[in-house]
Amino acid sequence: MSEPVRLVIAEDEALIRLDLSELLTEEGYEVVAEAGDGDEAVRLVREHRPDVAVLDIKMPGTDGLSAARTLLAEQACAVVLLTAFSQRDLIAQARDAGVMAYVVKPFSAQDLVPAIELARARFVEMRAMTAQVDELEAETSKLSDQLEARKVIDRAKGRLMDTKGLSEQDAFREIQTSAMAERSTMKAVAERILAE
Ligand SMILES: [Mg+2]
Repeated sequence: MSEPVRLVIAEDEALIRLDLSELLTEEGYEVVAEAGDGDEAVRLVREHRPDVAVLDIKMPGTDGLSAARTLLAEQACAVVLLTAFSQRDLIAQARDAGVMAYVVKPFSAQDLVPAIELARARFVEMRAMTAQVDELEAETSKLSDQLEARKVIDRAKGRLMDTKGLSEQDAFREIQTSAMAERSTMKAVAERILAE
């Protein structure tokens, strides 16, 4: 059997929290920690690294929405928010904050389980997209480094052609040979030539 999905839950009303915990445990989830407010939820998520945080939207102190924002900005875990019917405006804010799924109270297993699974799937997607963006950024910065090096080497080549009367090919070779001899880069050699 696969590892159970790990959850941190946060709900300020102790009875609802107990209910939530029991229901989710019956559904095969592992509730690794329980919080009574948003600050505690954030702290417990950082400590336990769960797959999903199930957060009541309205809690004293830091509410579920703020906690969700913090956790999603860190890409700490998927987030499911528990809301009431009267909190429609908050649902829009939650969506803007990147909350992946929500459940309207009173909750049932039929609502909670699909919401948790949806949030998990969306979180995996988000992580994969972030990794892709990081990779592209790394590639772009490598390309821009290469372009920058080529510009410097071209300028140094021009300098050698002017001052030593070398052909373009010989100037290039001189930079290349110096770099190899000095176990340095052609860019570093080029920069030194330009500084001379
Ligand atoms: Mg509440």
